[in-house]
Amino acid sequence: MKNSMKIGVLTSGGDSPGMNAAIRAVVRACEYQGVQCLGIYRGFQGLIEADFKELNARSVKNIINRGGTFLKSARCDEFKNSKGRKKAYDNLINENINALVVIGGDGTFKGATAFQKEFNFPIVGIPGTIDNDINGTDYTIGYDTALNTVVEAIDKIRDTANSHNRLFLVEVMGRDAGDIALNAGIGAGAEEILIPEQDMGLERLLESLDKSKKSGKTSSIVVVSEGDQIGKNIFELAENIEKNLKNYEVRVSVLGHIQRGGAPSCYDRVLASRLGVGAVDALLNGETNVMVGIVHNKVKLIPFAEAIKSSNQFDVSLVRVADIISI
Ligand code: ATP
Repeated sequence: MKNSMKIGVLTSGGDSPGMNAAIRAVVRACEYQGVQCLGIYRGFQGLIEADFKELNARSVKNIINRGGTFLKSARCDEFKNSKGRKKAYDNLINENINALVVIGGDGTFKGATAFQKEFNFPIVGIPGTIDNDINGTDYTIGYDTALNTVVEAIDKIRDTANSHNRLFLVEVMGRDAGDIALNAGIGAGAEEILIPEQDMGLERLLESLDKSKKSGKTSSIVVVSEGDQIGKNIFELAENIEKNLKNYEVRVSVLGHIQRGGAPSCYDRVLASRLGVGAVDALLNGETNVMVGIVHNKVKLIPFAEAIKSSNQFDVSLVRVADIISI
């Protein structure tokens, strides 16, 4: 089985720091196990266009420390219909690829599930997204690096907030999940943290900011998740605060794509390496339709069906910590 095996690896959806380290681990685990490995460029798009390149241990040198993904990533609408997926399947068969490792977020796993169902093709996933919004794994690759990037940025914003007695609203990524906002908010000492899972409401936010001012705070940081539900967007929220709390001068800072970039943290490099090796082990053990995740610091296999379940759960104890330490 081993010698006849050829594994394709791709990165899909939004890129995240540590994806390169995961590819590297997959390629080297393949070589270690004596199986061939093919890189597929631009995610599912490259699968449909047969954009393949053979990889070996040396092709992935000097990338463990680099952000982004050297295989490139893409969003591919064509893969959402069965005609596109059939093209992808034909290319895999033509190239004698008989198993896939897909690195990406929940959309990537949805695509993998559809493909697996249609063609019964062995696929194992690795969670690579800064949002940490995948069910069944404690962490996704890139999340830790993104948190560190956000904390560093907020530390800098705090310097200017302090110097001018201003309130800064800092928008961070997370359309559906508040993990980045909540953890980076605690780490950076934010006064308030607004997350999509919990609508605090404008009234309570105003009350809290007013209380902060009266308690003697001269500047404040409010971390706002992209998906927060107070108001149309962060700029409208800023206007509403200035309208209602005359003693506040408000500024907005949208951190945007800097959160996706940069060298992966040590944690992400190690996580990516463990999950990459775990993915190849899983395929060699005949596993399919599963994601390799990390649970209580152990590598675990989680069915795609479980991984893509949307859960609006968040750690309530973190909200309590944030409330207590921001008084
Ligand atoms: P991130 O959350 O970090 O952006 P992601 O993997 O969720 O990563 P998406 O753009 O949602 O990113 O999905 C990546 C690709 O997966 C899509 O461009 C598409 O090709 C494929 N895909 C997503 N959903 C489906 C689906 N329901 N059926 C088939 N393919 C899908």
